Amino acid sequence: MSKQGNIGVTSENIFPIIKKFLYSDHEIFLREIVSNAVDATQKLKTLASVGEFKGELGDLTIHVSIDEKAGTLTVSDRGVGMTAEEIDKYINQIAFSGAEEFVEKYKNDAAAIIGHFGLGFYSTFMVSKKVEIVTLSYKEGAVPMKWSCDGSPEYTMEETIRDSKGTDIILYIDDENKEFLNKDKINGLLKKYCRFLPIPIAFGKKQEWKDGKYVDTDEDNIINDTKPAWVRKPSELTDEDYKKFYQDLYPMSEEPLFWIHLNVDYPFHLTGILYFPRIKSNLDLNRNKIQLYSNQVFVTDSVEGIVPEFLTLLHGVLDSPDIPLNVSRSYLQSDNNVKKISNHITKKVADKLEEMFKNDRVQYEEKWDSLKLFIQYGMLSDDKFYERAVKFALFKDVDSKYYTCDEYKTLIKDNQTDKEGELIYLYTSSKEEQYSYIQAVKDKGYSVLLMDGQLDLHIIAQYEQKNEKTRFVRVDSDTIDNIIRKSDANQVDLTENQRNALQEVFKSQVPKLDKADFYVTFEALSDKANPVLITQSEYMRRMREMSAMQPGMSFYGEMPDSYNMVLNTDHPLVKQVLADEETACAGKLAPIEADIKGWEQRQSDLRTEQNKKKEEEVTAAEKEDLENTNHKLDDLRSQRNKILSDYAGGDSLIHELIDLALLGNGMLKGEALSNFIKRSIQLIGK
Ligand code: ADP
Ligand code: MG
Repeated sequence: MSKQGNIGVTSENIFPIIKKFLYSDHEIFLREIVSNAVDATQKLKTLASVGEFKGELGDLTIHVSIDEKAGTLTVSDRGVGMTAEEIDKYINQIAFSGAEEFVEKYKNDAAAIIGHFGLGFYSTFMVSKKVEIVTLSYKEGAVPMKWSCDGSPEYTMEETIRDSKGTDIILYIDDENKEFLNKDKINGLLKKYCRFLPIPIAFGKKQEWKDGKYVDTDEDNIINDTKPAWVRKPSELTDEDYKKFYQDLYPMSEEPLFWIHLNVDYPFHLTGILYFPRIKSNLDLNRNKIQLYSNQVFVTDSVEGIVPEFLTLLHGVLDSPDIPLNVSRSYLQSDNNVKKISNHITKKVADKLEEMFKNDRVQYEEKWDSLKLFIQYGMLSDDKFYERAVKFALFKDVDSKYYTCDEYKTLIKDNQTDKEGELIYLYTSSKEEQYSYIQAVKDKGYSVLLMDGQLDLHIIAQYEQKNEKTRFVRVDSDTIDNIIRKSDANQVDLTENQRNALQEVFKSQVPKLDKADFYVTFEALSDKANPVLITQSEYMRRMREMSAMQPGMSFYGEMPDSYNMVLNTDHPLVKQVLADEETACAGKLAPIEADIKGWEQRQSDLRTEQNKKKEEEVTAAEKEDLENTNHKLDDLRSQRNKILSDYAGGDSLIHELIDLALLGNGMLKGEALSNFIKRSIQLIGK
């Protein structure tokens, strides 16, 4: 029986489209024909197991081979084969609807077209000028057939000679795709797509080192592992097996923290193993590690959009026959099964973490530092996961003790609620740099959290948003009595002139620091607290830190950092600075200060006067009068400040106090630091 005909596509254009437009994913043709060979082999095994096929199964290895001279690539299986009717039905009749429209829409997306039309087999025409099928069905009395097609919608089909059941697919690789006749190339593709297929696949022979070179042995080179760990029962696997599989997938990587073996039958099918890597920093570093399979056929290793983003930090394998093999990414993202699978994984991951937390808190805490980034990322990006994770997400304090959110709240509730009823969470971002602040806070009996992770700032913001009357404040944001205000502040007992004097002597002597402004403020802290303290408002600092992470918000980044230099007016050293200054400067300052007083009075009188009038009623002379007064005042104040700053320049106590405060904040560097050291040595020598 020989036959000629037209392939039953409704569009004549399908071949040119396959050939021309589907350039991006050419290589998947190999996956398609090898997985067809696997399907045919598995069908035969199934038929044998139910007694419908009674013959010998024999060696079912699938062979992939290249004949460079003939320019062919052949995939041979010993599966069910096809009868002439079956070729007609499954190869010649490609049933589809709305073809042209669809093709137009997806012409750049090979996977979408192939998937839509079930064109797995036809993908071979992306790389071939001619394709032949030589096949013998397992059915009794079947006639071997040869089908041939040169890439036009015409084909020929005729009887041929073949004694073993099964199918050879022979591709005559076209000139533009010669790379697919290259051994290394094909080896690479088989490794990529076919590495875990369930039927042995041979490509060439195993080689051995003989007489100074590699030579083929008689043994087939099997490129796949037919029973990878994820298809086996968890009860059959040891920890070593799981770790070994991880090493197979990701050679040279660090041992995973732990893993989850997924095995779902309903309402969808899903198997797989997800590994938790040791994530330290840099979220992007370990992306694209989860491999997606469909019945052990590799689909993709970029799963963003398919699983929730935070899960892409995990490693391992997911396998579901419900994940369509041949569809585009956009299709996958909207596919219902894929969504269900993704929700399921999120739930399983939360289950596993909760179970570890409940069953072995000690071990869980040991792993926390490595898990933290992952869990926080999940909490920030996935509401469902957040709901679960608040129960097992941990806070760590500066003494490396761990608490759940609830535990921590209970711990600090009584002691760290301020007079407005707000609960204040104190934290540090660096135990080293903020050491003295942490000490001061601890001395008060308060607890300090260590929040030095990449996502901690975001977690803080989220926590504040989700919990009323809750505020996080870094220990160096203010004096501790101000951070947790329990009663009204102690009165600062200074006259106007004293304030001015102190402000000027300190402000004028702060060393020039890059992008930093200082405001001198006063506070009556106890005499046990430091004399001078540098703080930065929580709000300002967070704005800067957040903007540093977000491109396009450089406004805050450009602004200088503003700090408060808080003078503790209860401290004897600050009192001494004031007393020294008064002794040294009072004589010179007294007349100027008296003058200032007089001119200030005049300024205020003029203003009151002019404010009574309408803008246009104020005469030019009156305006000038006020302006002159202002100038005079400016002038007098500069004179006063000059006296103060000249004096302060020669006062080593002021410099020492400023430098010590900067030093306590990690801000004393370079020349300023070296000056401080020299001065301190001189002072000790006195
Ligand atoms: P799919 O695999 O999705 O069914 P394909 O285009 O890959 O679509 O294959 C079409 C059909 O051709 C298969 O369903 C099968 O019936 C038949 N077929 C393809 N390759 C083989 C083979 N190696 N052995 C037996 N039948 C095959
Ligand atoms: Mg197929």
